[in-house]
Amino acid sequence: MKPVCAICGKEITASDNSEEHIIPASLGGRRTVSDFLHGHCNNEAGATWDGELAKQLQPLILNFGVKRQGGQALKMKVATTAGEEFLLGPGGSLEMLKPIIEKADPAIGNTYKIQVGSRADGRKVLNGLKRKHPEIDIEASLACIRVEETYLKAPIQLNLQFGGEESGRSLVKSTLALAYDAGLPVDLCQDAVGYLRGSKAPCFGYYYIGDLIVERPTGVPLHCIAIEARPDTGLILGYAEYFGINRAVVCLGHGYQGEPVRKVYAIDPRTGMQLDLAVDLPFNEEAIKAIYDYQMDNDAGRKAAYDAVWPAILEARRNAEWERVAREGFKYAWDNCGAKPDAILTIIDKVNIVRLFSTKIFPFLTQVWGLDAHTALTRAVIVGLEVLNLAESQSAKVKTRNPLV
Ligand SMILES: [Zn+2]
Repeated sequence: MKPVCAICGKEITASDNSEEHIIPASLGGRRTVSDFLHGHCNNEAGATWDGELAKQLQPLILNFGVKRQGGQALKMKVATTAGEEFLLGPGGSLEMLKPIIEKADPAIGNTYKIQVGSRADGRKVLNGLKRKHPEIDIEASLACIRVEETYLKAPIQLNLQFGGEESGRSLVKSTLALAYDAGLPVDLCQDAVGYLRGSKAPCFGYYYIGDLIVERPTGVPLHCIAIEARPDTGLILGYAEYFGINRAVVCLGHGYQGEPVRKVYAIDPRTGMQLDLAVDLPFNEEAIKAIYDYQMDNDAGRKAAYDAVWPAILEARRNAEWERVAREGFKYAWDNCGAKPDAILTIIDKVNIVRLFSTKIFPFLTQVWGLDAHTALTRAVIVGLEVLNLAESQSAKVKTRNPLV
């Protein structure tokens, strides 16, 4: 039998086939199915349905540092509870959103104090100022940029809302792709196909009154697509969950009379690693109607799902920030310790490395970790010694290139 496109229903030819991601690539999905969608139908669905879903889940994509196969996720604007605005980037990195331009001491003439989130922003601001003040030397000004670390004073506010028909079609399409991958012909999934083609009502509903994943791993912001076809109920059911938070049950079709079929595809989007999970979908026609009717969706359940994975975001951000601060601190110490390249490190060089390193990371330990000055200093020196040991063991006690960069 020739393959037929699940979206438009026309025959798929060799020249218009596609590798459809079961979980959208923008969410970190890897596994694909072919002979399922035309190339152009796939592109259109990707831009609209998957695009809408990715837009709704963008804060999670960025905060969890989703590993995607192609391209980085776009940055987005976020605000802290104290009203400061930042740009959230992949891996949860934060940049200043708006440049701050102040006229410095008017007595000195046209002197400006400019605060920007990046060198590129600095150039933009200077280009703007140059229109008014042609005497500005952009390169010279950029050369004397002072880099300052600032740390967040209040937590980021997350506005997470998902739902609606566009993103719903993406959920349905993903379960349909897995059903197809499990050997169920698209023709048997008339509810899903009808909904995707616009001739039938939505065939999904959010589900939060229980956990359909058996022995859910703790704190993992997992993606999971599952399907189950049962001759006793005649139902072909699907389940789509993203980041452990967005959880929907799908009814793909009725009147199934074949052998029981079950299949699960789950990943940890932070690494792309596949997870071995089991999903239970113990629903009959009546339960499915209740799910469509929002009877199994509630705010408390949504919040509990969110609370189960959010601490992992905070911890990942904390770890990433600590690693960055330590790496940069050590680079600074190594570069400025006074030893010549290829020289054996003297005891004075080593003392300098630990001293410079601890001075550099001290503000982070007091401001972000909230340590008192004494504890912070002790901690900074201990970490400095540990990092020095590690560096020495890697470069045989000689100052070659910085071994930790
Ligand atoms: Zn098509």
